[in-house]
Amino acid sequence: MSARIPEVTPGRMLSGECLCGDVRYRVEDRFRYALNCHCSQCRKATGSAFKPFAGIERDKLSITHGQDGLTVFGDEHAQDVHCRRCGSLLYSVVRDGQYVHVTLGTLVDEPSIRPSAHIFVGSKAPWYSITDSCRNMRSSADDTDHYPLFDVRRRGRRCDAVLRLLVR
Ligand SMILES: [Zn+2]
Ligand SMILES: [Zn+2]
Repeated sequence: MSARIPEVTPGRMLSGECLCGDVRYRVEDRFRYALNCHCSQCRKATGSAFKPFAGIERDKLSITHGQDGLTVFGDEHAQDVHCRRCGSLLYSVVRDGQYVHVTLGTLVDEPSIRPSAHIFVGSKAPWYSITDSCRNMRSSADDTDHYPLFDVRRRGRRCDAVLRLLVR
């Protein structure tokens, strides 16, 4: 078994889908960054210790099946997109609507990028220990992680602040 990471091939497309298969998407294998987010909202949205995701320009992703089967939380500039039937979180629209954060867990194909850091580790679940060698990013925004209300746009602004530190 090889642990080799696939090289970026120009024009290579990746497919992804939700748990039930109603929604399928395609995205270019040209992600700009990939991170593991430990904020409480990403943990709840995925039911997991953290959310591995990768960011790319919004127009590089398209829904190939099940456009009518989407449930969207938020507005045009900041939204979470789920399958209406099974609830899978497929991606979030972020950074003033210019980028999407694709949940790596919904990719069917292997991307050529790997998460480079854990972010919002100040919000990390106490029962989970980070055991890899990725960089750990604690941020002042960790302090505002727990909102009384679900607010996609506010979460997006908080995430933007961290991305400015990590992404050119
Ligand atoms: Zn589904
Ligand atoms: Zn998060």
